Amino acid sequence: MPTTFDDIVLGAGHNGLTAAAYLARAGRRVLVLERADHVGGAAVSAQAFRGVDARLSRYSYLVSLMPSQIISDLDLDLRLVRRRYSSYTPVPSDPSTGLLVDNGDDAATAASFRRLTGDDAEYERWHHFYARMTSLAERLFPTVLEPLRSAEQARELVADDDLWRAVVERPLGEVLRETFADDTVRGVVATDALIGTFADLDDPQLRQNVCFLYHLVGGGTGDWDVPVGGMGAVTGALAKAATDAGATIVTEAEVCSVDPSGVVQWREPGGRVHEERGGQLLSAFAPAVLDRLLAASGADPVSSGPEPEGAQLKVNLLLSRLPRLRDASVDPVAAFSGTFHINETFDQLQAAHATAAAGRVPELLPCEIYCHTLADRSILGPDLADTEAQTLTLFGVHFPARLGRDDNERAREEGLAAALRSLDAVLAEPLEDVLMRDGDGRPCVEARTPLDLEADLALPGGNIFHRALQWPWAERQAEEGTWGVETAYERLLLCGAGARRGGGVSGIPGHNAAKAILGG
Ligand SMILES: Cc1cc2nc3c(=O)[nH]c(=O)nc-3n(C[C@H](O)[C@H](O)[C@H](O)COP(=O)(O)OP(=O)(O)OC[C@H]3O[C@@H](n4cnc5c(N)ncnc54)[C@H](O)[C@@H]3O)c2cc1C
Repeated sequence: MPTTFDDIVLGAGHNGLTAAAYLARAGRRVLVLERADHVGGAAVSAQAFRGVDARLSRYSYLVSLMPSQIISDLDLDLRLVRRRYSSYTPVPSDPSTGLLVDNGDDAATAASFRRLTGDDAEYERWHHFYARMTSLAERLFPTVLEPLRSAEQARELVADDDLWRAVVERPLGEVLRETFADDTVRGVVATDALIGTFADLDDPQLRQNVCFLYHLVGGGTGDWDVPVGGMGAVTGALAKAATDAGATIVTEAEVCSVDPSGVVQWREPGGRVHEERGGQLLSAFAPAVLDRLLAASGADPVSSGPEPEGAQLKVNLLLSRLPRLRDASVDPVAAFSGTFHINETFDQLQAAHATAAAGRVPELLPCEIYCHTLADRSILGPDLADTEAQTLTLFGVHFPARLGRDDNERAREEGLAAALRSLDAVLAEPLEDVLMRDGDGRPCVEARTPLDLEADLALPGGNIFHRALQWPWAERQAEEGTWGVETAYERLLLCGAGARRGGGVSGIPGHNAAKAILGG
């Protein structure tokens, strides 16, 4: 049978769109199939509150991992803004004090450490630690758009055996206890290891270390930047690049079976089933989703291992203004501009993990908050643009999918209450007082559990990276020199977050799958 398309991309998340853009620009006939009525997957902007003209980055919100090469290769009209403040962390035992890390003022950061710890030693350790992490990031990040190196080659590239052991071979918890003396400081560093990853910091499997590495290497600096216009602007630019180059994107097309010889069946909303043939299939679905669709055509799965599980509560909020803080020494604008850590000391993170592992919602959910509108007000409509209104994204950690397996509604309510209690503990006024109301008079609060994300986005177990993140180098000899996207089937590649070096808003697996087809 003749092929209808050279390439069929399964899923119009930002990675599927990246792959489609590269392939279409190379002159290939490309079809993209997407079940939702819009593109973007977990990288979208949406009006989350009825009657309120604000387009929030509903799921993912900051960009670190997208290489500038992808932006320039695809001529993306995309602006990423660097945040001046890295983080603010109130001290849980005394929220009238806190640690402010100001990228624009080293002396102010040093003074903040001194106030917290009594001398300069912890700041010097912090400085030294991140200088070493930057050298690692600078060396490793450029490799993500190349064929996979072996672990040994990556280690040689890093050229610092102690650093390699600290990040790649020893549990991060052990390293942080050894490196830092202060519980708050240890916690600020540790949170990067726990984004979407349910792990004890001392877990010998080192999933927390892999997650930590992904949060450090982005752009060779580890900076997390604000996409102007929200995440929808990232996806919009990629979709435009793909369609301008001739790719066809079909939304409301639910793929119901994948035959790895190149045949895909999809269903339109009315139930009619269509069949397409492609020379190559590129799956941006989570591998567990792809496996179910392969099974529907009688084919073997491409992945193995435990069922993926996400571990976060995502809450979107709209406020009439920034709330006042119990720490009067810090300007709320500075505190909310970077990552605002709440009840995330090292010991609190460990205790919350133990509580959630025992099947309970932590009393004060450790969480981090970020305010998009302090960096970019373009996401607000004309009614709000000139007001003091602000959007807040809250990302609660150690909230695994298993907490909602019996009763997801109850888990959502308990999780939201625990997250808001956590936030209220550091505010000088109740959050309730500054929450805006939607067109129906309801508070502008949207909470999504891992199981909600599974339903909304087809993320297995609500895992935001499709499955546990993997080291960004070959872990088996057979993988060396590949693009980390290949499967057991010659005509089927992964091009989404579940590929090696996938996960996060990066476009990396989309690029790499296209390169696997087009040649380096
Ligand atoms: C709450 C949340 C917060 C996050 N925060 C950040 C962040 O700030 N920064 C960051 O870098 N990363 C973040 N992430 C992770 C990041 O968003 C994802 O890893 C990334 O967007 C995955 O992109 P993707 O294109 O590979 O897959 P997806 O975005 O998951 O796209 C897959 C697409 O396939 C479609 N699909 C699935 N099944 C079918 C089917 N049967 N038929 C047709 N279509 C189907 C889906 O609808 C979806 O559009 C976050 C994720 C979440 C959920």
